[in-house]
Amino acid sequence: MSDFPFKPEVVGWELTLRCNMNCIHCGSTAGEPRPNELTEKEGLDLIDQMAELGTKILTLSGGEPLMHPSWHIYAKKLVEKGIAAYIITNGLLLEAAIPKMLEAGMRRIGVSIDGMEKTHNFIRNHPNSFQIAMKGIKKAIENGIAAGAITHISKANIGEMEDMYQHFLKVGLSFWQIQITFSQGRMKTHDDYALDPQQMLDIADFIYKKQQEGKMQVVPGDNMGYYCEPPITKRPFKGCFAGRHLMGVDADGSIKGCLSLPREFVEGNIRTESLRTIWEDPQRFKYNRYFSTDMLEGYCKDCPKGDPCRGGCTVTAYAATGSKFNNPYCVYRVMREKQV
Ligand code: SF4
Ligand code: SF4
Repeated sequence: MSDFPFKPEVVGWELTLRCNMNCIHCGSTAGEPRPNELTEKEGLDLIDQMAELGTKILTLSGGEPLMHPSWHIYAKKLVEKGIAAYIITNGLLLEAAIPKMLEAGMRRIGVSIDGMEKTHNFIRNHPNSFQIAMKGIKKAIENGIAAGAITHISKANIGEMEDMYQHFLKVGLSFWQIQITFSQGRMKTHDDYALDPQQMLDIADFIYKKQQEGKMQVVPGDNMGYYCEPPITKRPFKGCFAGRHLMGVDADGSIKGCLSLPREFVEGNIRTESLRTIWEDPQRFKYNRYFSTDMLEGYCKDCPKGDPCRGGCTVTAYAATGSKFNNPYCVYRVMREKQV
């Protein structure tokens, strides 16, 4: 293994951009597949290349990954290679997929749940999506798979967090990851649901209280929190890991620092170069590998936490301000401004 200082230890892989939902907040505008998605042979070769570069954890994502015919073949190979394989699904095809998940050795899944029934079905643009996803989750839990919910908080569902928590407890979810919706893809046309930065405080407060109750693992996603008092993360945020220890793969083989980043962040494609050539090129992923605090702008410019924070989640900052290093969605900033 090379001594290159950055390794793609954690990977998000968009198997396909195809999706059987049409969520109003979808940052990837999923629905139709990308014009030239990887073949199964190319996908299996990519897994070999990732294993050689030191990938340890990989999340199968989309679009809807369960719509990709090879998802379980990839999952099996990942597990055989010693790479922990997770999946994030919208839940519509979950129940039928459970035998294949078990066969592949998958033991932990995340399901996107964005509110109680009416709100979830509205956000997901599908009349029965809540019921179907919940049925799949229950079946997964019965079969020994640890299931968690992943929720994008916006103005459409912020008022339902307590109801969701109570429901998730009843269902027996293992974890709940809470992140904020950012203004990218289809969400750009639904900006009226975008949170006010001040609402981050309410979300942080909610997460903290539920963590204290200790009944379920409630964790903030990468774009939620930062140096809260009291803290809601085990360790202080150490800056966006995109292109440092995290990598995103689009369904056509394009490589980015993080799967959530838009296409202008593509650094290469595995169809034209090896993954190692792309990843270990000192000229790529420069925005994050060679950070210095003078790159910070706007809200983050004179922040005392600028190093190590680096402006928080790159995609959230970029979606909100057009700058990678200017992030209004920061609890620390809101707390300082309010002098809480
Ligand atoms: S203001 Fe910016 S740099 Fe400071 S903690 Fe918040 S996101 Fe990080
Ligand atoms: S862009 Fe955001 S979600 Fe992606 S690695 Fe950076 S902090 Fe995490």
